[in-house]
Amino acid sequence: MKQHTPVLDELVEMSLRLAEPERELLILGEGNTSARVDEASFYVKASGAKLCESKPESFAQVKIEPLLELLEGPELDDEQIKEALSAACVEPGVMRPSTETVFHAMLLSHEQVRFVGHTHPVAVNSILCSSRWRELFSARLFPDEIVVCGHEYVLVDYTDPGLPLAKAVWQGVADFVERNGGPPRTILIQNHGLIASGETPAMVDNITAMLDKTARIILGACAVGELHGLSEENVRRITTRPDELYRQKGLDER
Ligand SMILES: [Zn+2]
Repeated sequence: MKQHTPVLDELVEMSLRLAEPERELLILGEGNTSARVDEASFYVKASGAKLCESKPESFAQVKIEPLLELLEGPELDDEQIKEALSAACVEPGVMRPSTETVFHAMLLSHEQVRFVGHTHPVAVNSILCSSRWRELFSARLFPDEIVVCGHEYVLVDYTDPGLPLAKAVWQGVADFVERNGGPPRTILIQNHGLIASGETPAMVDNITAMLDKTARIILGACAVGELHGLSEENVRRITTRPDELYRQKGLDER
């Protein structure tokens, strides 16, 4: 029987919420989630586990450092990456972590990130699978979108899932950190899906819900006419207004 820890219980609860069928964020074995345990390790969904059936046994505990080393190393074939993921397990041989484990390690290595949720929402992917995805997700549209999801998203071109995708996300995150001084909340991958990261499970859930709403608004706006984004000045104003900063503090409340 796996030992229950508060962070593992929080991760299970967050995963079950993201998998609620009426939210249309993922089906079957889609998506993966993670939570940092301490500076050295984190829990991540095991390969083949379904988020809608999440329980403590659905998650593998893995070491961060050997996974970060993979980002700077050579390309690995499918067998080599499987071996590397198994070798990173705190209890080797018990279960195999998700193939997307490396980007979780990279995000969780940032102090401000303790939980990560990766989903394939229907509305978000409707845009990510279109030729206009980059243009449509480049503008910020309304104040609450900025307060919850951030003023800038990391947009990543489609890349083979696994280590190649982790390297592409890492590059996008590194550029974002250089411009903004901290990690992004929202990462969008062309033809694939969304990665939300934050300090609490509620933040990850809220970012996912607000981005899903944003995608539905984009689809609606494009059906009515041309998309109209906020000006850079309007966006800057939202990120610095005292009342909006106060509301940002409430982000980890549900
Ligand atoms: Zn995915």
